[in-house]
This record gives sequence, C-alpha cells and structure tokens, in this order.
Amino acid sequence: MNKVEIIKVLKNIAVFLEIKGENSFKIRAYKSGARALERIDEDFDEIVKHNTVDKIDGIGKALAEKITTLYREGDLPFYNLLKASISPGLIECLSIPGLGGKKVKQLHESLGIDSIDSLKKACLSGAIAELNGFGSKSTEKILSGIVNLDAYSKRHLWWSMQGFVDEIIYGLNKLSSVDKASVAGSYRRRLETIGDLDFIVGSEDPKPIMEWFVNLEGVKEITAHGSTKSSVRFKNGIQVDLRIVPADRFVFALHHFTGSKEHNVLLRQRALSMGYSLSEWGIFTKDESTDFLAEGAEAVETEADLFKFFKLSMIEPELREGFGEISLAQKGVLPKLIEPCQIKGVFHNHTTLSDGTDTLEAMVGKAELLGWEYIGFADHSKASFQANGLDESSVLSMIDKINIFNDSGVSNLTVFSGIECDILKNGTLDLDTSILEQLDYVVASVHSSFSQSEEEMTERIIRAIEDPNVTMLGHPTGRLLLKREPYKVDMNKIIDAAIANKVVIEINANPHRLDMDWRLWKQAIEDGLMCSINPDAHSINDLEYFRAGVNIARKGWIEKESVLNAKTTEDIMSWFKERV
Ligand SMILES: [Zn+2]
Ligand SMILES: [Zn+2]
Repeated sequence: MNKVEIIKVLKNIAVFLEIKGENSFKIRAYKSGARALERIDEDFDEIVKHNTVDKIDGIGKALAEKITTLYREGDLPFYNLLKASISPGLIECLSIPGLGGKKVKQLHESLGIDSIDSLKKACLSGAIAELNGFGSKSTEKILSGIVNLDAYSKRHLWWSMQGFVDEIIYGLNKLSSVDKASVAGSYRRRLETIGDLDFIVGSEDPKPIMEWFVNLEGVKEITAHGSTKSSVRFKNGIQVDLRIVPADRFVFALHHFTGSKEHNVLLRQRALSMGYSLSEWGIFTKDESTDFLAEGAEAVETEADLFKFFKLSMIEPELREGFGEISLAQKGVLPKLIEPCQIKGVFHNHTTLSDGTDTLEAMVGKAELLGWEYIGFADHSKASFQANGLDESSVLSMIDKINIFNDSGVSNLTVFSGIECDILKNGTLDLDTSILEQLDYVVASVHSSFSQSEEEMTERIIRAIEDPNVTMLGHPTGRLLLKREPYKVDMNKIIDAAIANKVVIEINANPHRLDMDWRLWKQAIEDGLMCSINPDAHSINDLEYFRAGVNIARKGWIEKESVLNAKTTEDIMSWFKERV
C-alpha cells in the first residue's frame, strides 16, 4: 500500500472506533498518525525501508508497526476485524456528507438507524430534527445527501471506464466475424460521467458475437439477449448494450447511437430540409421505402462521409451536443479542437512539500517522459494545514530550490514556481503580497467555508481574481463529481471578472473535478477567457489526468490559442511578464 492509501486506512480506523464508542485517546492516535503521515517531507519508502516509521513525530511504536504491515502486506488483520464488526449499513451512512463516526453512533443508539433506508425514514418522520445536535437544517442536508448518493451510484466517471472499454473493443476486434466495432454513446462523446456503455458492431454473422458478449467474464446479469441487441450488467454495476448491424449500416448506427439526442434531432431536421430522412439504418429518400438507401448513401463509409452527404464538415463526437455545431459545420467554420500532443507542460501540481506523494525531481522525470517543455509546481499554502500547506519561509526556500534545479542543468525542462494559494473566507489571499510577487504564478483556490451564500462566494472569488498576483483560478466550483455538489457561485460573474483582470480559469483535469464545466467554455472563450488544463497532480501518475482535461476542453470548443499551457516556454515567460 502506498502512503495515501495508508492514510485513508488510518482515518477509517478512527471513524470506525468512533462508531464503536472507543476511548478518545485511541481515536486521536489514529487521527494524528494520519496527519503526521500527511506532513512528512521525506521519502516514505525510504522511511519504511529503514524501519524508522516510529521516529516520525506523532507516531508511536504500536501505530508504526501497523503502518509498516499495511505498507508491506497491503492488509492489516486488526483493520479487517474492526470493519467486519460494524454493520455495513452504518458504514454506508458514513458516505452522507456531514455524518462522521460520532453522529452515526448517536443515530444508531438513539433511533436504531442501521441503514440508508432507515436514515431516510427517520429524516422524513421528523425524528432526526429533534435529536440533540441535529435540527431541521441537518435533516435537509442528510436528505439531499441521500438523493445525491442514489444519483451518484447510477453513474460512473468517464476516466474510470477507459480500461474496461478498451478491453471490450480489443475482445470484439479479435472475433473473426466482427467487421467493425466501436464504442458509442456518452462515452464516445467524452461526457465527464456516463450512465451506461453502448457498443456498435458491424457484422454479417452476429450469433457468435452475441454469445461471446453475454458470456464475458464479470457479467452479473443478462437483461436482454437477442440476435442483434443484448444488454448485460457487470459486477462493477455498469450496464453495457451491444448492437450488431450489417456492415454497410455500421456508420449510420454508430452516428445514431453516439448521440446526443439533441444533435440527432438537429441533423434529422437538416436531412428533412434536404429531402431525406435519416435514421440508425441509413439515409433514405423522404416518403419512400426504408429498404433502399437514398442515391449516394451507399458510398457513405465514415462519419465524415455522412456529414459530407448533408454538406457539413466533420463534427467530432465531443461537439455533438446540440450547441450550434450543425450551423457552424454548414459554414465550415468549426473550431480546430485542442489535441493532447499540443500540451507543452502543466502548472497545477503538488509535491511532497505539501500533500503530494512524489518529489519535485520525480515529477520532473515523469514530465520528461510525457515530452513536455516545462512543469510548474503549486503546492498548498498554509491555511490548508490539513494538506501541509507552505508558510512564507517554506515558499521562499521552495523558490530557491527551483532556481537551483533550473541552473543545475539536470533536466531540459524549465521548472516554474507557483503556489495554490487559499482564498480565505473574505476573499483575501493566504500569503503576503511580498511573497506572492516572487513566484512565477499563483493559482488561487477555495478550500474552506463551502456553505457561504452564492453572493458571498461570488464576491469572495472576485476579490481574489482582482488581486494582481493571481494568475489562475483553481477548481472554480469545488465540485467532486459523484461525491460532492459544487458550492453556490455565479460563474458568469466570475468569468467576466477573470477576463477583465486577465486571469486564467483552469480546467481542473482531476477526473472527479473537471471544472470549469465544459458547458460554459464555448461562450467564455468567445468573450476572451484563457484556460489552463491543470492536472492538479498529487503523484507522478496523476500527471496523466491532463488527458481528461483535454477531453473537457474539446467539449468546450477550445482551440490551442486559448490554452495557456499549449504555449512554448518562451511565450509563457513573456505572458507571465506582460500580465503584471
Ligand atoms: Zn485545490
Ligand atoms: Zn491542488
């Protein structure tokens, strides 16, 4: 287990002990142990190797042993037994925002709550509102938490589905009767979260393909099994549909089932206006038999051909959302969407200086492998104490370290010095101007007081944007997809303020964040906003998240000219200079 996973286990142990009502010293030991691990600067692997975990400030001998076991075995019998002794329903209740170990214990003891179901009933009956320390506001919050949990459980992150999709496509392509195969639906349009997966296959011999599909490893339930369409549910909860069509109709089915519905409606309207009808089976002459394709339609082999048939330029799947893509394709003026290979470096990254798991040197090494020209580091500032944020003197020594690194010639990459500076409750920044001025750039982010009113939050963020030291706004809504709703904020006002102050808004490429939302980018770019695709990496592997950010940028109609980190090192340097 790595450090991050171990920290999670320690925190879980503390919560489970709270549910069991264990003594507070014991609980505190695990909490402060987790915090101590978060705080260490040294290489954790080295510490374990040298058996010096118990030398870490805040970690005693007994806890050090448990940490070492977790690291070496990936498992801890004490933790497994503890977890098994708590009803799974109570553990589920912990996923409701605002419910920690103590509150779950209280609910269990005073109202017998042992599941989300009984929790919901107690909310609706008013029993929870009468409990000490709860009230009607917390009841409301719990209820909306339950509604969200239900909605979240039905969807999956696009990012987490990649391996699964690739495996199915790989398997399909190995079958001799498959002529063409593709994923379709919202996955192909690269929506940030997806409900189910659709695959389209072109084949003249569907039977063996269907047999292969319904017998795939991991299939839990077959909900439909036909000769040309089947649906299965996998153990991981995802529903997968497979449609098989004759090879010469593949392109029509692929386009149709890629969607979106809005896009399809608009394209069908265009077809009708030109005297044709369009469906998943092909292009037909209006009012005639649907058995015969319209003249010229048999030559349609690719989606580009299909759009060309209707006198449109190719519309990439990411753009098929009914946001005006048809009328721009008609004029041939769709944007040239940003590509992953056009990214030249990334800015919002964390190292072991705050809550990252890898050192600056290791991160630079990975950036070299990705073929980048530069990388910037933006560790947390001191108000994010839970993330081991940097105070003024730590920032200064980081700047020194980066200067020395750049001068050393160890790497061809240029390293930029930045900070992810907390936007405090009143909109001021967490570090002194004299410090911020010495950095190459500042990412300003909200990490606290999420429950402010929309007005307060909007004013707070605008105040930060107006600070001349701020270069970019980090994760502008605080949302965690399928985990936490965004805070209330007027994004239109934020966008206007960012443009007026030449502040960049990031696309936080962490697959759980992906804000600013793609639906806002098209207009914002037209109005002159710049974006930066920021992985918010906390480890070398997280740097790969930039690809998820590129997906979102593409969905937002963004071209490379509007992406800060598609600029060359030289251009970045002069851009930073010109800003101030
Ligand atoms: Zn952050
Ligand atoms: Zn961050």
